[in-house]
Amino acid sequence: FNDVLTRLEQAFEQQRSFVSHASHELRTPLAALKSEIQLGLRRPLTVPEHEEVLANLLQDTDRLISLTNSLLFLARTLESIQSVPFQIVRIDDIVFLAKDELLSAKPTYRIEIDYENIPNDENETQVTGNEDLLKQVLLNLFDNACKYSPDHTARVRISTDHQFCRIAVHDQGIGISEEAQQHIFESFYRANNAMNYDGFGIGLSICAKIIELHQGEISVTSELQSGSTFTISLAHI
Ligand code: ADP
Repeated sequence: FNDVLTRLEQAFEQQRSFVSHASHELRTPLAALKSEIQLGLRRPLTVPEHEEVLANLLQDTDRLISLTNSLLFLARTLESIQSVPFQIVRIDDIVFLAKDELLSAKPTYRIEIDYENIPNDENETQVTGNEDLLKQVLLNLFDNACKYSPDHTARVRISTDHQFCRIAVHDQGIGISEEAQQHIFESFYRANNAMNYDGFGIGLSICAKIIELHQGEISVTSELQSGSTFTISLAHI
């Protein structure tokens, strides 16, 4: 009984902190939009100045849309996560689907996929899970690997043993300090060295929830200025 109470309290606390973080994240770009508009109204502007103000407004609005979409996706995932349909899926197929989807949105990225070993049989890359959610995990990991590395390249290795299928996503990017590694799976957390890159600190918290739902594991090893490897491990059928 005490355990249930503690878990409930933790859930409420998480929700409270989520709402306050989300409000804060939304307020900042809205405040920027407002001051931009006020500045534009302060005196008559030339046409090029108008264009500049509008371009800035567009940039802030795009960021706001992208943040709202991420929040919506997170809320929907958490809401429906207990009721998503599970079936047998091939994780390596999902790796290739995620690659195609990311590259069509961001053609300058590179994603190299390799098998560490030849699976003993077909079952070794088949897991019980939800294709859309697992694809979302891989999309986030590939996107991060490319975004946070100067060569915009994610190196993906698929490996299997008698029990597990593992997907390791490696990059030679900015890396994550040991201190930051303790927090990156929390919603809205962003490490200091990531601040010059687009993002809201939501993707990895979604990944962690999805992998937890699949009773798998997600882990990271990383060294600052040298690179990171995120590994997900799922029991195969
Ligand atoms: P976002 O990338 O939008 O900030 P995520 O939840 O995907 O949000 O990641 C949380 C944080 O973890 C990032 O802000 C960054 O500090 C760190 N991080 C994640 N992936 C990488 C990576 N491949 N290389 C370096 N830092 C990373």
